[in-house]
Amino acid sequence: MEFESILLPGIDAKRPLVIAGPCSAETEEQVMTTAKQLAATGVKIFRAGVWKPRTKPGGFEGIGSSALKWMKEAEKETGMYMSTEVATEKHVYEALKYGIDLLWIGARTAANPFAVQEIADTLKGVDIPVLIKNPVNPDLELWIGALERLYNAGIKKLGVIHRGFSTTDKTVYRNLPQWHIPIELKRRFPTLPILCDPSHIGGSRDLIFKLSQQAMDLNYTGLIVETHCSPDDAWSDKAQQITPAALKDILDRIVIRDTVQ
Ligand code: PEP
Ligand code: MN
Repeated sequence: MEFESILLPGIDAKRPLVIAGPCSAETEEQVMTTAKQLAATGVKIFRAGVWKPRTKPGGFEGIGSSALKWMKEAEKETGMYMSTEVATEKHVYEALKYGIDLLWIGARTAANPFAVQEIADTLKGVDIPVLIKNPVNPDLELWIGALERLYNAGIKKLGVIHRGFSTTDKTVYRNLPQWHIPIELKRRFPTLPILCDPSHIGGSRDLIFKLSQQAMDLNYTGLIVETHCSPDDAWSDKAQQITPAALKDILDRIVIRDTVQ
């Protein structure tokens, strides 16, 4: 596979490429406030989930398409690019209709070849960067298969997100990093951009810095970090969300050692 750059116009190739924003879009004000604070710290790509794949029914399952309107308002106000998760054909249509700039496929969806194929078919002929999270289970071939499905549909602006793997072990992590899996993926596809999602690997605020530094030491392209204007009030994943100010502090502390492979 020959990949094309996922860098949107005006975004430079300096590491780390940073995507940040809340786990979920909750209210118009939360989206706007978080986006403004992130833009002020220099973040160029905003993330927010509007359709949330919850383990059990009955919880907050996302605002849906109307939150995409809030995101576009935030884009107008801040100049940031907007990204969201898609899991079905309908999500793709809606995200494209509202002009979302970058899409990602979540870890549960990445484990389902039918869903990935449906997204790939819907994106045929569309020029948009797509990031594919690792499947929840530690299956490198399944992850590569998802990449191939998108690639074969003509999507060449591809990247991956390492968000860790489900485990029944008691560990400090929410999802085991199993670094050897993304490292092997990088070895096979050296030009494939790879972002680390320390939020979903760690599951807690105090692991974000260490995981981000580890990813940078492994020459990852970037980071996708859950960031919320008021993390303790978040409607999903509150233990792992940080404020834009905390993100800035982490980014300032990370050391980029370009020679380490
Ligand atoms: C998310 O990014 O909020 C999310 C649902 O992540 P994952 O697919 O990695 O669980
Ligand atoms: Mn989340």
